[in-house]
Amino acid sequence: MNIILLGPPGAGKGTQAQRLVDKHGMRQLSTGDMLRAAVKAETPVGLEAKAVMERGELVSDAIVSALIGEELDAMGPDVGAIFDGYPRTAAQAEALDAILSGRGRHLDHVIELEVDEDALVERVTGRFTCANCGKGYHDTFEQPKALGVCDKCGGTEFKRRPDDNEATVRTRMAEYRAKTAPILPIYDSRGVVTRVNGMAEMDHVTAAIERVLAV
Ligand code: AMP
Repeated sequence: MNIILLGPPGAGKGTQAQRLVDKHGMRQLSTGDMLRAAVKAETPVGLEAKAVMERGELVSDAIVSALIGEELDAMGPDVGAIFDGYPRTAAQAEALDAILSGRGRHLDHVIELEVDEDALVERVTGRFTCANCGKGYHDTFEQPKALGVCDKCGGTEFKRRPDDNEATVRTRMAEYRAKTAPILPIYDSRGVVTRVNGMAEMDHVTAAIERVLAV
């Protein structure tokens, strides 16, 4: 199965993708994670993407589509893919069609997480993760049970994304509205889109997504 999770930054795409990975053994293909890894490793792609990401703007279509193609090639043909943060433009949506069909895959579902943008700014600017295992936390909604110690692995180092500050989050949302939301009609016309209330409790969102996948 191949599915796209769509929604602005902070809508919960990464969290929900991770749950699908754990439950169904699917693979999360997050272009944001791939780009952050490239920035950290200082690869040519990373060097090109770093400043663009810090501004909250979009990295070039050619770069992200190439990353997606490479990741798919490294996966077994029977492993399901969850596209998280890709496609983000009409050109990427078109590239994804070619990428999938070239590999004998097809798109089963597009799940749009519908959210209230003002609430998202608080969600995104408060989030942080364990530097060791990646478990996510939030200043207001989910602190570690013991202050400064990760619940999952006991790690004591935490990190925040440099682009999770308010000004950059606003730019990322504007990019979503201007470039990503307009690709929904393409998928609507194919009858593959389901809208899920992304403001509901996390478990309810997961249950709603599971119902879509069961169809
Ligand atoms: P994310 O982790 O999905 O929020 O992505 C973080 C940043 O990486 C974005 O603000 C963009 O700068 C860049 N990025 C991630 N995915 C894409 C994409 N599909 N197209 C263009 N830029 C992307």
